[in-house]
Amino acid sequence: MTDTRDTVILGSGCSGLTAAIYTARAAMKPLVLEGHEPGGQLSITTLVENFPGWPEGIQGPELVDNMKKQAARFGADFQLAHLNSVDLHTHPIRLKTSAGDIHTRTLIIASGASARWLNIPSEQALIGHGVSSCATCDGFFFRGLEIAVVGGGDSAMEEALFLTRFASKVTVLHRRESFRASKIMLERAIAHPNVELRTNVVVEEVLGVEDNEVKGVRLRDVTNGVQSTLPVSGLFLGIGHEPNATMFRGQIDLDPDGYILSQNNVFTTHKGVVVPGVYACGDVQDRRYRQAITAAGTGCMAALEAEKYLEEHGH
Ligand code: NAP
Repeated sequence: MTDTRDTVILGSGCSGLTAAIYTARAAMKPLVLEGHEPGGQLSITTLVENFPGWPEGIQGPELVDNMKKQAARFGADFQLAHLNSVDLHTHPIRLKTSAGDIHTRTLIIASGASARWLNIPSEQALIGHGVSSCATCDGFFFRGLEIAVVGGGDSAMEEALFLTRFASKVTVLHRRESFRASKIMLERAIAHPNVELRTNVVVEEVLGVEDNEVKGVRLRDVTNGVQSTLPVSGLFLGIGHEPNATMFRGQIDLDPDGYILSQNNVFTTHKGVVVPGVYACGDVQDRRYRQAITAAGTGCMAALEAEKYLEEHGH
């Protein structure tokens, strides 16, 4: 017979770890399932300058590692495991994971969002051979080389600026005329002598598949259809993220892009009715703010609601 846990937290990013700190301090002995991107997006970020309490900023991996240590200090358990399937409508809730079956009275979904790809065959073929979605992980390999970054939001600007530490030139390729990035990030990119911004272009093909390394990109100008080639040694994707919620489809309400539709910040619903004991926090349910501090905030709310639920049900 599988023991029933008070709470299981899916995901170990900023929201999951904050939920772990709160539930651990409430003596709920949370089990955190770390999933395929332990530490979440903070673990692949460089300097975080806007998390309150760090006047000089803090490196993302250090921030997330501190949160993990804080949760562990109060008794949170951690396990590297993938969720294969879940039944949210039985009590206790049953999870089938790569590490075995787990039963829990409450579930906190903090599974985040993963980097988006262009999904063209040449890009997919060259992932790890010059195509990357993580500048901080792979920028080092492009010292003195020319590279391109796709995207027009803050992620693309942040990646482009970070990559100037290594690359001799970074060309940002954006599919529209106007940028989604915040003014300050865009201005920093425009001001940088080694960053060039090109608008109204889409990547049609990544060149170099036959050599197993990126040689360039074939571009199409969307205003006139003219094609051109940009020789680069690396292509970085900075085009946003996909929420990791497909495994809940049919059991809780998702929006058209697959984000969990939460009510009052963290309550999950099925056909508009609250699903008891199942809460969502962080980027998997937040398409608007997506900040470390807001993820931490909803992680805290989810933990407090899970604690309240257990109290109300006599646990
Ligand atoms: P985002 O704001 O959604 O921007 C994604 C960009 O990629 C958009 O410019 C979009 O083009 C483009 N794009 C999407 N799919 C594409 C495709 N298939 N082909 C070509 N281009 C594509 O995502 P984000 O930049 O990751 O930012 C997400 C949130 O995190 C934002 O709220 C942002 O402010 C925040 N953030 C903040 C910082 C910071 O402050 N340091 C850093 C990173 C992220 P369109 O514009 O045409 O849609």
